[in-house]
Amino acid sequence: MRLFEAIIDANHRALAGDQHAGLHPAEFEDELPIIALTCIDPRLNPLMPAVLGVPQDQFIWLRNAGNIIISPLSSPMRSLSLACAIKGGKEIAIIGHTDCLVAKTTTMQLLDRFRALGIERHLLPDNVNEFFGTFGSERQNVLKAADIVRHSPLIGPKVPVHGLLVDIATGKLEWLVNGYQSLESMDSRWKEVVKAAGHSVDAFKSLTDFDIGEMKFPQTKIGETVTKAEDWLSQKVHQLETTRPEIGQSTKTTAPPKIPLPPPIRPRIHLHKGAK
Ligand SMILES: [Zn+2]
Repeated sequence: MRLFEAIIDANHRALAGDQHAGLHPAEFEDELPIIALTCIDPRLNPLMPAVLGVPQDQFIWLRNAGNIIISPLSSPMRSLSLACAIKGGKEIAIIGHTDCLVAKTTTMQLLDRFRALGIERHLLPDNVNEFFGTFGSERQNVLKAADIVRHSPLIGPKVPVHGLLVDIATGKLEWLVNGYQSLESMDSRWKEVVKAAGHSVDAFKSLTDFDIGEMKFPQTKIGETVTKAEDWLSQKVHQLETTRPEIGQSTKTTAPPKIPLPPPIRPRIHLHKGAK
């Protein structure tokens, strides 16, 4: 059993009243720590990482309003990427929640709130929804975010990217995107893109006097370097996007079976110290 299979299993068993439901972190050393992106809603504070059963010190927690990811190179993507590279995160989970206020607030309400804060309409971008990435469905938002992360060039092909929804009242987890399923096809596609990109990376390095050994960035060229790096990455993103499978197809196969509503208790999954 893989880590998130065990997490979901323990969560559902705990909600069904199993006093012994729990996760044995020692069995999943190669799959921990995990990185989670959740909403900023304070109601999540007591739920995470308790409902996952993952130890505090194996839980790298990123948050933003609505657990929104707008694009493959955006700020939360950069944090997810560094969380893998620097903090050694092994698996990523985008965890949305029910009753999210971002989903419940209409555009008109949002503009009213901004006005009350002294931010007039003309100070905001034309397409406010697109700018903030607001959404109407918590589920669709998780599917979209997981898809963008999966296809971002900043995340290696070996890192599973899951999508979950947590019931804010009960702590029940719903597994919307099974990150293990898309690993294999992603791996081969990634290799093709990296191979094709090999020449352009070399050319790019010599062009900008980029010295990896001494990390020298010529002062006058910093802006230029960044622009070129973004152009290059954007191109890679496009290549990955054009080869991705149909989104409807992947979400259909990963949707878990419907499970009856659990009793209104929050599962606290026990931690089993050491190996079984
Ligand atoms: Zn929320």
